[in-house]
Amino acid sequence: MPSHDVQFDAPFTSWACSCGEGGEQRPGWPAGYQIVEHGVVTTAPLLPLLRESQLVTAMRLSVAASRPHSVAAVELLIGNGFWLHDRRVRTLLRGGWDAGRLTVRVDWTAVAQALGVVDEALRTIKWSQARPEWMADVLDAWSGMPDPETAIPLTESEASDVMLLRYATSIAGGMPVTLSNLGSHHLDPHDRELVMEAIQRIATNR
Ligand SMILES: [Zn+2]
Repeated sequence: MPSHDVQFDAPFTSWACSCGEGGEQRPGWPAGYQIVEHGVVTTAPLLPLLRESQLVTAMRLSVAASRPHSVAAVELLIGNGFWLHDRRVRTLLRGGWDAGRLTVRVDWTAVAQALGVVDEALRTIKWSQARPEWMADVLDAWSGMPDPETAIPLTESEASDVMLLRYATSIAGGMPVTLSNLGSHHLDPHDRELVMEAIQRIATNR
C-alpha cells in the first residue's frame, strides 16, 4: 500500500503526495479541496475493513486539532459505540491522511440529513442569531442536497441511540442542545451520562 504524506505550499498553489499524486490548485476551487478529495478517494476501500479500535484511533486523530465541540461530538459516538458498527453511519464517514496516518471524520451535514433534522437545525440556527456568513455556509451545504441515501428514523428499538446521534450532530454543529430532552424516555441512563459529559467537555474547553 502506498503511503500518503501530503505536502503543499502556503498560500495554497500546488500539492504533492508521497504516493505520487499531486497537482496545481484548480482555479475557483476552495484551497486544499483536492487534498481532501484525494484523502476520501484513497481511503474509501479501507473504511469498511477497519476494526473498531482502528476506527476509534482514526476518528480521534481527525479532531485532534479541532475545537472542543468537534471532539465532544466524536467522543459521544465512541462512548455510545452503537454507531461505529452501523452500516448507514459507516457510509457517512470520510477518510483522509494526516502525515501518512489514516483519519476518519464524520460528515455531520450528511448525518443531519439522514436524521431528517435539517429543518430543525436551520430553525435553531435562525433563533441562535448565528453570524450571517456562517449561516450562508450551512445553507449552501444543505440546500439542493438530494434526499438522503440512508435514513435514520427515530425507531423504537434504537430510540436512545438515535437521540444520542441527534445530540452529537447538534454539538458538532455548535448548535444549542435542547436540554429538556435529557429527561425524556428516549435517552437511556448511560447515553444521558455521555451527553452530560459532552456538554461538560465543551463548557470546560477540554
Ligand atoms: Zn496519496
